[in-house]
Order: sequence, then structure tokens, then C-alpha cells
Amino acid sequence: MKAFEWVSPASVGEAANLLKSAPAAKDVDDAARPIAGGQDLLTTMKDYITRPARVVNLKGIRGLDRIEPDGRKGLRIGALVTLAELEESAEVRRDFPALAEAAHSIATPQIRNLGTVGGNLCQRPRCWYYRLEEAVCLKKGGSECFAATGENKYNAILGGGPSYIVHPSDLAPVLVALGASVAVTGADGKRTIPLEKFFTLPSEGNIRRENVLRNDEIITEIDVPASGFAAHSTYLKFKERDSLDFALASVAAAVELGPEKTVKQARIVLGGVAPIPWRVPKAEGYLAGKTLSADALAGAARLALEGAEPLGKNAYKVPLTETLVRRALAKASGLSV
Ligand SMILES: Cc1cc2nc3c(=O)[nH]c(=O)nc-3n(C[C@H](O)[C@H](O)[C@H](O)COP(=O)(O)OP(=O)(O)OC[C@H]3O[C@@H](n4cnc5c(N)ncnc54)[C@H](O)[C@@H]3O)c2cc1C
Repeated sequence: MKAFEWVSPASVGEAANLLKSAPAAKDVDDAARPIAGGQDLLTTMKDYITRPARVVNLKGIRGLDRIEPDGRKGLRIGALVTLAELEESAEVRRDFPALAEAAHSIATPQIRNLGTVGGNLCQRPRCWYYRLEEAVCLKKGGSECFAATGENKYNAILGGGPSYIVHPSDLAPVLVALGASVAVTGADGKRTIPLEKFFTLPSEGNIRRENVLRNDEIITEIDVPASGFAAHSTYLKFKERDSLDFALASVAAAVELGPEKTVKQARIVLGGVAPIPWRVPKAEGYLAGKTLSADALAGAARLALEGAEPLGKNAYKVPLTETLVRRALAKASGLSV
């Protein structure tokens, strides 16, 4: 690991200034980084994937570790809330079940005890070429995405190219489905970003990054609004190892039912299949006004995967994800179809 300076600010403003005033970096991955639970950042530093000269410890900042109602039946989640706290919160389990399910599906109890919500959203991709120190792939400033023609069983089938990473966070698809936004503080001020606009495709923005955060910006909280569908939400994740694993494919679904079990509103976001949480508005629109039946679920699942372009070794993700879409919609609506 490259030597680095460790600083522990007491406020978010001080942290942002410390990120901004760090020595200029030759490469984006040499830039100063905030650290929360360290469950991802330290691994990338040990493998020389990131090489920050300054690491800004967020854990000493007070007030970022609470889950609070927002006064309108929504939820404010501090960026330093741990995955274990999210999973165990009675309010989250009752009013936002998909969020508790997603948190529970992540890694191991030990990692959930340390990993934070902010760090989970900002964790780096798991593609094994990206994680291999010796492989200088597109995302590390090289000229080629080795997954495009290589061992791509775990890579993207939607929205890929020129890099085919998949977004690793399990919380992200759920938070996008629930219409959440993130509050961000930088050295030059604050802003609020809808989570749906937070993550960036490799084909847009900076291919070396996965979101719109500037180097000196820190997520301070995640705001989840009240909605008619949050309480009828679920997260289904398919992983190879039951004990701990990232999603091969996952689905966050939320459904608001009207009279006679017709769909008033549906939200469907796919995980593990695209470089960003992949919302499928066409499938959502198709369900609006329909009575949920096996045919309607199958129609929505087909539309959700429309446009999928599997690579050489990951065509299995198409039927797998279609099945998860059908099952997640049925579960969220309380139907046994
Ligand atoms: C074995 C293993 C299995 C895992 N399985 C899963 C899984 O199944 N599903 C899943 O979703 N995740 C999984 N993870 C990832 C894990 O959930 C994340 O590593 C963890 O949540 C990161 O949180 P952290 O607080 O430790 O972040 P850190 O490691 O401290 O930071 C991660 C990144 O986020 C940035 N960051 C941290 N906090 C902020 C902030 N407030 N604002 C801006 N940037 C910030 C850091 O600079 C860094 O780039 C796994 C990890 C391991 C090691």
C-alpha cells in the first residue's frame, strides 16, 4: 500500500476542504478519498487500484449516523449509518421493507457492522479485471475493456460499453426504486441529487468514475420520500454463494395497488446487470392500470429485459432476471401467481 496522510476532521465542511486542499493528483485514482467503514476503500488501496495521498476519515463527524423520520413519513438516513443498523431498524423493516431486505442481503454480518450506507453507494466495481492490479483496463486509464471479449460471466447485459462493469451496490436499486435522493456537501457548497441521476454510465461522464460526485464532495444523507408503494416493496437477489456474494442479478420492485388489485403505480429497478441501477420505465408503464396476472407479470418481465445485449458468457442473465422480475412483482403485490 502506498503511504498516505490520515486526517480526522470534526465537521463535514472541514472534511470537504481537506479533500479539496490535498496535493494535486496525477491520476484520478491518486486523488484524496474520504473513508467511512473502509470495507472497500482499503481493499482498493492494498491492490494499488486507488492510491490517495490523503485519506479523510469521516467517522469522527457527529450527526451522520442516524436514521430519522423526515416529518412526512419519509426517511432520512445519515451516510454513516451502518448496513447492520439499516437492516435492523424497525421503521425501515415496516415502512421500507425492500431496503431492509437489500441491507440484509449484503456480504456478512461483520462487513455489515462496519460498512456504511454512503460507502455502499460509492463502492467501486467488482469486475475482476478492474480489481486485478496488473490489468490496466479502460476504467484504470487503459485502452481496452478486457471483459468485453474475456471472462464476462459477471458483466453487464444492459447499458454496457465501452466498459462492461456492473454496479455492485444492493442498496442502490432499491433507493432508486423508492425515489431517494442524496444530500451532498463539497468545499463550494451543498446540493441535492436524485439518486436516479447520481450514477453514470461508462458511455457518459468520466469512464474512470461511477457517479457525479466531485472529488471534494461527501454524501451526508440519503432522503427516501414517503410514497404509496414504499411499504409494498421488495428486493430479490440471486447470488452464487448463499453465505455471501454480490448479485448475479437482482430486482427491486414496488407496487401501489388500486381497487380490484389493479396497478396504480409500479417501480422496477434491476441490479447486477448494468453499470448503473437499471430502471425499466417501459415495463413500469405497461403494468399501470392492469390487473396483475401471470400474463401481466410475464409481459412486464419481457419488457424489462428488452434491449439486453449479452456478452459471450452471460446470456444466462436474461432469463434469470426475467424470473426475478416476475417473482419480485408478485411478492411486492402480495399475490401468489
Ligand atoms: C467480501 C465482501 C462482500 C461484499 N458483498 C456485498 C454485497 O453483496 N452487496 C453490496 O452491496 N456490497 C457488498 N460489499 C461491499 C460493501 O458493502 C461495501 O464495501 C461497504 O458497504 C462500503 O462501505 P464502507 O463504509 O466500508 O465504505 P469505504 O470502504 O469507507 O468507502 C467506499 C468508497 O466510498 C467512498 N465513500 C465512503 N463514504 C462516503 C461518503 N459519505 N461520501 C462520499 N464518498 C464516500 C470512499 O471514498 C470509497 O471510494 C462486499 C464487500 C466485501 C469486502
